[in-house]
Amino acid sequence: MTMVRQTKQRAAVVEVLQTARSHPDAGEVHALVRERLPSVSLGTVYRTLDALVRDGTVVTIERAGQATRYDYRHPGQEHHHAVCRCCGAIFDVELEALPTLPPAAFPAGFEVQGVQLEFLGVCAQCAEPSGAQPH
Ligand SMILES: [Zn+2]
Ligand SMILES: [Zn+2]
Repeated sequence: MTMVRQTKQRAAVVEVLQTARSHPDAGEVHALVRERLPSVSLGTVYRTLDALVRDGTVVTIERAGQATRYDYRHPGQEHHHAVCRCCGAIFDVELEALPTLPPAAFPAGFEVQGVQLEFLGVCAQCAEPSGAQPH
């Protein structure tokens, strides 16, 4: 675990990700951070996000054809994602109990250390019969 210098930028990025539960991409994080620290550059935001990902404070969500999105990891509280296939919105899913899988399901010698589930579906907004607005 790399110790990252506690900077104003870092604090602002963490705060943005803690409050914005929309799983923003770097550009959206940048826009939100600039509301607090107007002089912050996109490059600084990228570097700060990288450092936070390296030390495990932030996780990335990679989806084909989309910008990487970022998510604050609440300490000791894993959560999962429900992804709308229509608009790509990502929602948090808190699960108390996880499904148990037979050890035979894993490659020999594989040590499971965590699980990240992704549920695919259609969000309420996209399911609206009145015609979905991309959001
Ligand atoms: Zn949707
Ligand atoms: Zn999340």
